Amino acid sequence: MSDHNGQVSATPITERVQQLTQLLAPFKKEKPLPEQPKMGFFTDTSLCIGCKACEIACKQWNQLPATTPEWTGTSYDNTQSLGATTWRHVQFIEQIERRIPHVNASDEKVLKLPLFEMDTPVPQMGMDLSALPELAGTPTGTALPFFSTDRWLMRSDVCKHCANAPCQEACPTGAIIHTEFDTVYVQQDICNGCGYCVVACPFDVIARDSEGDGQAHKCTLCYDRLKDGMKPACAKACPTDSIQFGEVEQLKRDAQERLGFLQERGLTDARLYGADDKILEGGLNSFFLLLDEPETYNLPSNPARPSNHVLPTSLGVIVTAAVMGLIGTFFFKQE
Ligand code: SF4
Ligand code: SF4
Ligand code: SF4
Repeated sequence: MSDHNGQVSATPITERVQQLTQLLAPFKKEKPLPEQPKMGFFTDTSLCIGCKACEIACKQWNQLPATTPEWTGTSYDNTQSLGATTWRHVQFIEQIERRIPHVNASDEKVLKLPLFEMDTPVPQMGMDLSALPELAGTPTGTALPFFSTDRWLMRSDVCKHCANAPCQEACPTGAIIHTEFDTVYVQQDICNGCGYCVVACPFDVIARDSEGDGQAHKCTLCYDRLKDGMKPACAKACPTDSIQFGEVEQLKRDAQERLGFLQERGLTDARLYGADDKILEGGLNSFFLLLDEPETYNLPSNPARPSNHVLPTSLGVIVTAAVMGLIGTFFFKQE
């Protein structure tokens, strides 16, 4: 279009550019967010006292409905498991009648267990442990587990934010992503509730909210708090620092140091789970210090990545189809 002086007006061109931009907007790829250090959790189960403050803090921050406590008859743990509306769960593993290997169960002699009195200094790394007082214990099986040779293990369970996350690999809509903090996040507006991620997760973490929106839910590693530079709610609430939050590489160094300290004190069964790359061929950004075998905590020693089965299975299907085709051709020819 030209004005009365014969000059071309810019307005229609600008409008057309705007229209074209609007038309192409849905196809425009957003710029990725600037990469951040990998963030995660080091959960030191040797420090957990089972108070469940983390579980409650998670529910409160994320406005998740309360889980009705239930007496199972097998454990004092009355919230039982992770679920679509329980993104942290503190396991109680009551090892009643467990004996210290060198103690005979019928031996009535009083055990000498190192206990700490109120005025005893808190044990520190590098401290001379032989200087700590000994207090008479009770014969096995005669008192609460804490005070006899039985023991309660406690572990605050959560999504492992796997480096190679099977849930993400299984998701057909791309709803599950790794964020700029390398945490695993479900985009609720894209999840269609198919549940593929639920069966792919080897840790029984992610779950569909069948009584609510039907979508899959799990720990977000408090993405909203991380964006504002805040600690996740569960780690903030933990009174013993059993849940430590921070940069994954630093947490791994801290975990190695803590493991050495515990092993030096005689906890030879203590071990790290998910701190190296062995679990799921990449490790876990939320890893644990355990006091017993992983299976004791309901953790698989060697969890499988379902995607590893895709190639062999596909090859098997192709070979079977080819053989069936050849057999079919052979019989048709004969007829
Ligand atoms: S623990 Fe399960 S839900 Fe969490 S990232 Fe790994 S596979 Fe996904
Ligand atoms: S990081 Fe946040 S969402 Fe995940 S368990 Fe802790 S409080 Fe819940
Ligand atoms: S992890 Fe911390 S907050 Fe959670 S139960 Fe254990 S001690 Fe309590």
